[in-house]
Order: sequence, then structure tokens, then C-alpha cells
Amino acid sequence: MRAAAVCAIAISMSVASASWAQNAPVKALTLAATTPAPAAMPIAYPGNPDSLGVARTVEIDTTGGPGFGFEHFKAYDFLRDGEVVLTFDDGPWPGNTPAVLKALAAQCTKALFFPIGKHAMWHPEILKQVAAAGHTIGSHTWSHLDLSKLPLAQAEEEIEKGVSAVRVTLGQPEAPFFRFPDLRHSPELLAYLGTRNIGIFSTDMDSFDFRIHKPEQVIASIMTKLKKNGKGIVLMHDFQHATSLALPELLVQLKANGYRIVQVKAKEPVTTLAAYDQQLEKELGGGTANSRLISSVVRTINEPNFNDRFPAIR
Ligand SMILES: [Zn+2]
Repeated sequence: MRAAAVCAIAISMSVASASWAQNAPVKALTLAATTPAPAAMPIAYPGNPDSLGVARTVEIDTTGGPGFGFEHFKAYDFLRDGEVVLTFDDGPWPGNTPAVLKALAAQCTKALFFPIGKHAMWHPEILKQVAAAGHTIGSHTWSHLDLSKLPLAQAEEEIEKGVSAVRVTLGQPEAPFFRFPDLRHSPELLAYLGTRNIGIFSTDMDSFDFRIHKPEQVIASIMTKLKKNGKGIVLMHDFQHATSLALPELLVQLKANGYRIVQVKAKEPVTTLAAYDQQLEKELGGGTANSRLISSVVRTINEPNFNDRFPAIR
């Protein structure tokens, strides 16, 4: 166990002050610059000095749907040498996503998550944990189909349902950041996302962690590619068990090799389409207080043990 609680509190307080309401037309900010601490509160970061942390926070204006990630989009090279953006796709998923969150918290660092809409609806409590930890959340379609092969209307529906699923499960819209399943896009869909002012994230380096089932090989894959590129947006999957096991050591190695983490935030939250919000709200069901954490709504007051429930086999 690492002493993560102190840094988590300090950083989340500073980030909260740089909320959606902030309208400064600044695209890249240092963490210190986003921290107009109240006068009465001394500026202090008592977090673990040995942790990876967040070296810089950048804010992206997604007007017109800019693309990021050198594998497909070369216009906006915003990372400096040694800087890394950690991204995680395909969650939220029991076991693996909480393990990823724990590893990130232990290093006081932040990442960018691209959840699948269906997974978010199945496991809203886990996506709420991602949000509560202060990570950035985009979207990754409703059901992870290859959008480049779908009729345009169906592909647009996949995008919009994915965007709305995040809003409905969290009770508020998140970042207008999108990643195509398998990074497969079409010119028509890029144009569509442009009209929706949603930024597109490809990758600078794909870890291919979905093909690797040994944590040490996931680490080696990422460290080798980073050494070659010197910096980058790294694509991983919080859905993958090996990645969740690899992350604590990967973060230690990133720190030891001098890499610095950049958190990506959006200038404005995504605009969802009401028809999809309403459809998914019905699907999620329940009362009007869906945005409360489940632990504050339902609490275990008594739990019989295994033998109590099955006395016949005692
Ligand atoms: Zn994916």
C-alpha cells in the first residue's frame, strides 16, 4: 500500500477550481497555473514526492473536432519530450478498472479514459469511481463496432449512444473526446465529429496490450516504444487484466526513466443529444437520484455468511 490519500486530496482540490466554468482561452496550462487557491488556504502539495504525479495539465478546445495522436493525426503535436498521456479504453470493468484506479492513485497521477457505452451502463458504479478520482472521461462508442464498416446513420448512432451513456451513468456530461474502436475511422465520420465539436484521439503508440497476456510484456512493450518515440499518447486498456496487473510497475518505471505525465482536459463538456439521453435514462431505469453513489443509497446492515445461507450443507 502506498500513501496515496494525501496527494489525491491536494490535487483534486486544485483541479476542482479549474472547472468547466473557467473560460480562459488558454490551451496549455501548468498545474500551478490552474490553481487559484483561495486566499485563506496555503498552496501546498503534501503528496508523496517520490510519486509520478501530474507534471502538466493541458486544456483542449475541441471546436471543429481536432484530431490527436500521430498514428493518424499530425497537426497538433502538443507533448514535449519526455511527456506521456496515459489513456485507457474499453472499461469500465469489474476488477480491472478498480485496479487501474488504485495504481494511478498510488502515484498521484491522472489518465484519460475512453469507456464503452454498454459497459458504462452495466457498471455505472465503476465509472463513477473513475470520475470521482478526477480522471478525464471521453467515450468509445456504444458497443465497440467497427464504425468504418457501418452505414453512416448507424455509425453516428453508435457514437451518440456512447456519448450519452457516459452522461446518463455519471449524471453529467464529460469531455468531448472520442476514440474510434480499433482506431478505424472514415472521412465522413471525422466530418460528423467536426460538426459535433468532438475531439478525436488516436494514439502515438499502441501498447497492443489486448494481445499480450503477461504483465511484464505489457511493460516492456510500452517502455520500448516510449524510448524510441521519446514521448507520446499511450493506448492501453483498463478492460485488460494483464494491463491492470502491469500498471503499478509500469508507473514506477516511467518515473524512474524521467517521463512526466500530462493530464488532458477539455475546455467545455460534450453536448449530448437529448433523444439518446432520454432513451438511455429509460434503459438505466430507477428513480430520480441516479447520480448518487450506490454506497450512499444502499448499505449492507447484515450479511449472513456462507453457512448461514446454506445450512443443509453445514
Ligand atoms: Zn476499444
